[in-house]
Order: sequence, then C-alpha cells, then structure tokens
Amino acid sequence: MKKAAIIGAGIAGIATAIHLANKGYKVEVFEANSYAGGKLSEFCKDGFRYDAGPSLFTLPERVEELILQSGKNVEDYFSYKRLDIINKYFWEDGTKLEASADIEKFAEQLEKKIGEPKKNILKFLKNSKEKYDLTADLFLTRSLHKAETFFNKTALKAVLQIWKLELFKTMNQANNHNFEKEKTIQLFNRYATYNGSSPYSAPALLNVIPHLEFNKGAFLPTGGMFDITKALVKLGQDLGVIYHFNKKVEEIIIDKKENKIIGIKVKDAQNSKTENSINQEVNFDTVVSNMDIVHTYKKLLPKEKAPEFLLQQQKSSSALIFYWGMKAEYKQLDLHNIFFTKEYRKEFNALFNGKTLYQDPTIYIFVSSKHIKTDAPEGCENWFVMINAPHNDNSQDWDKLIEKAKEDIIKKLERILMRNVKENIISESILDPRKIELRTSSLGGSLYGNSSNNRYAAFLRHANFSKTKGLYFCGGSVHPGGGIPLALSSAKIVGEMIEKV
Ligand SMILES: Cc1cc2nc3c(=O)[nH]c(=O)nc-3n(C[C@H](O)[C@H](O)[C@H](O)COP(=O)(O)OP(=O)(O)OC[C@H]3O[C@@H](n4cnc5c(N)ncnc54)[C@H](O)[C@@H]3O)c2cc1C
Repeated sequence: MKKAAIIGAGIAGIATAIHLANKGYKVEVFEANSYAGGKLSEFCKDGFRYDAGPSLFTLPERVEELILQSGKNVEDYFSYKRLDIINKYFWEDGTKLEASADIEKFAEQLEKKIGEPKKNILKFLKNSKEKYDLTADLFLTRSLHKAETFFNKTALKAVLQIWKLELFKTMNQANNHNFEKEKTIQLFNRYATYNGSSPYSAPALLNVIPHLEFNKGAFLPTGGMFDITKALVKLGQDLGVIYHFNKKVEEIIIDKKENKIIGIKVKDAQNSKTENSINQEVNFDTVVSNMDIVHTYKKLLPKEKAPEFLLQQQKSSSALIFYWGMKAEYKQLDLHNIFFTKEYRKEFNALFNGKTLYQDPTIYIFVSSKHIKTDAPEGCENWFVMINAPHNDNSQDWDKLIEKAKEDIIKKLERILMRNVKENIISESILDPRKIELRTSSLGGSLYGNSSNNRYAAFLRHANFSKTKGLYFCGGSVHPGGGIPLALSSAKIVGEMIEKV
C-alpha cells in the first residue's frame, strides 16, 4: 500500500487526506497543534463558545461533495442552514441596511435607504454571475500550471468573452462605474477583503465574490463553523486516515539522486524545547504540505532552490480579533454585522502602505449565538469583533496598537449602536497577527496567503505540485488561494494530480 503524509491539519490538509484515502493511500496527517482545523478552529471560555477564525461560509457543496465521493451520507456528517439575512450594515450617519438574501428585496432596500437605483444592483449581480461562470472552472478547480487547463472549451469561452472580466480595472474603478452612491460602492468594495486585498488595487475580477453570497447563498453550519473541521476529520478517520497531533514536521526528506520524496522528519511539538523531543524519520511515497508555502521552503526544504519571486509576492492582510463575552443582548445586531469607516481609501492605505491599523477601522462583528443559543449563557452574546490588520512584519508595536484599537472600536460601536458596550464585556480573548502566525504558521499571520493586489496575482501563486516526484502543496497560500472554498479546491486539485494506487 502506498503511504502519504500530510503536513498540517488545516482544512485543505484534512480534505487532501480524504481525497488520498479514497485513492487507496494509507494516509497520516501530522499536525503541530493539539487540535485540527488550523485557522478553522474553535475555543470556549467563561461559558461562551467562539469560532476562532472563519465566520462566513459559502459553497457548502465543496464539503458535501467530499462526503458523497467517499460513499457516505451527508446527513451523517454535516448540516447547515441558508441565511435569510446575509449582513447588517451600519454607517456613522445613522444609515442602517439589512442585506437580505432575496436579491429583489436587497436591491429595493438599497434604493429606499441609500438611493441606489435597483436596476444597478440587479445588473451588477447578473454580471457577477457571468464572470463567475466564465472563470470559476478555469481558475478555481484546475491547476493554472498545466497546459491542458488553457487548451479546452472552457478556456476558449473565457478568452472569447474576456472583455466581460474587466481585467484592466481595479474593483473600485469598476464599482464607481457600476453604482451611483458612495455607500453602495463601499459596500461592494468590501468584498476585496474576502481574500485580504484592497479594492483600490485588486482587479475588478474579484467582483465575482458577491455572486457567491447573493446568488449562491451564505450559510451557517448547525453547530458553528468548526462543524466543517469536525465533519471532515471524522470522515477521514472513518476512511482510515490517521491523525498525529502535537507532531511538528521539521524537514521534508528528498532523495536528490532520484529527485523523489523519501519521507519526513517529525518532532514532538509538546516537548520540542526539551531533551525528550526526538526527531523521528518516517518514510512516505507522497508528501503534501499544508504549511504556508514560504515556510515550507524556508523551514522544511532549506536545501532546495526556492522560487523566490513567487514567495516574495505581497501577502494578504491579517486581522485583529477581540472575542468578547457580552452580558447583554443587542437586538440591533444580526449574525454578521459591518460598521463602516468614513474613509475607506485611508483605511486600506494604512493597512497596505502604512502597515498599521487605521484609527477609524471598519468593524465586523459575528455573533453566532444569534443562531446557536448554546454558544452563550442566557441573556448574553458571544461577540467576535474583527478589524483588518496588516500582516506582521516585526515593525509594528502590536501591544500598543491593540490597546488603542480596543478604545477606538468601543467608542465607535457605542456611538453607532447608542448603547453601552464597554460595561457589558465580561470575558475577553484576543487574536492578533503574531498569534495567527504562531498558531498556524502563516507568514506574518496573513489570512489568505498572497494578496490579490495586482492583476497577475492569480498566476503568481505557487503551483500545487513540485518538480520533486511525490511532493505536493495545498492550502490558502498556494493556488487557487485562501478562504475555505478555495482551500478545499486546492485539496481537490492535488487529489486529482496524485495517481490512484
Ligand atoms: C480570523 C480569520 C477569519 C477568516 N474568515 C474567513 C471567512 O469568513 N471565510 C472563509 O472562507 N475564510 C476565512 N478565513 C480564511 C480561512 O480560514 C483560511 O483560508 C483557511 O482556513 C486556510 O486553510 P489551510 O488549509 O490553508 O490551513 P491553515 O488553517 O493555515 O492551517 C495550517 C495547519 O498546518 C499546521 N502546520 C503548519 N506547519 C506545520 C508543520 N511543520 N508540522 C505540522 N503541522 C504544521 C498548522 O498548525 C495549522 O494547523 C479566515 C481566517 C482567519 C484567521
């Protein structure tokens, strides 16, 4: 039986393990943490449960297809619901908007509250769908590094309608053209942050993202986002995948003469600083790294020639998150809530050029207890309060920035909600770019690998394979990019590349 090692139990590693088990491999996953999921994890504190990372779930079919391909029933592993309200938006001037999943209703609301003609919204979402239909198969489900991807009907169709993709405009330029009102432009520009980029630099092609939320739907797993991790780990284990937790891979071992994989060197992560930690060499025919690609080269493959140009591409933004247990309920809030800055361009300038936090940040609050009552004690709510942050490049004084950000956030929320926030915080945990890097090994704590702040970004992500036989890469830092659906796509692409036993 052929043996495959997966380095990291991020969602892409977990999914790759399933693909390979289905191909007849004996699969072992080595995870440095004591838990699975990487960024897609959860924790409990003082009676509150929090999803630690992702909160917005689109394309649930990517999870379902893994279960179905494995010959199992979806309902035995995973359930979720479609959201009726996608987001609640708040502006400083008192404007509030509920983004209904019903597009007609949403467009009517935008017309009524903001004055944006309804037809502009409907036309935009139709174009967003067209862009997605033209490009998804090409960019998201295949390797961009294989010639066959570009010599087929799908590619030809996209090339013939290339003008629809607005390749030479930024998202902000396209949205200025698409909409009349500043607030609508800001609302749709925000979708650039779904892969950690700036709407003022990212290509207008990213206007496909609203199609996922509005046309295909936004969802919530029944028990919270961590259900995705739990479901797929269980599925893997049922297929025979073995998980080793607290096991940090230190090196990928290559037979230089044959240019093929021999195996990996593993260390006990719990005792890594003590004498007891032993480097153990384990042989494998195939190794898939779910570790950030920069760290994979620098730490696990130090003797290999690294593709420096690809590795040095600008990284996506990171995040600063306050997990607050609130001793009160806020009827104004829904599951997903956005409190916009007055100066969006200045915010992105601070993040990507100033490499610092902005003093009037756009605030995102996710309150899973609105739908999952057991996530907070009665009469309380579990707030996941996030602002965009630059990735850590060791130039920032994070402790100072966090202290100031907390003050700015509380003041802004109290101003807009017209309610006390500070007094109701009874429990707090904080996640910042340094901790994200420490816990998941993402370079600088970036959430989505490379940023898309450049029109060639899609082509400047590392491929899912290497020149070394038996070595592959999956996860948010390689093709096709970050976010749960794309990380799952990377796993699928790797799964399709690796031959059946
Ligand atoms: C705060 C936050 C909010 C987000 N919001 C969303 C959202 O709403 N929707 C969405 O779709 N996406 C969101 N994302 C992005 C999404 O979480 C990631 O793109 C995705 O989870 C990345 O998965 P991955 O497979 O690349 O692995 P990661 O989650 O990066 O995990 C990698 C794993 O590999 C392990 N590892 C690394 N090196 C080694 C080694 N040498 N040995 C052993 N193990 C190792 C790490 O410990 C880790 O568990 C968010 C991320 C964060 C942090």
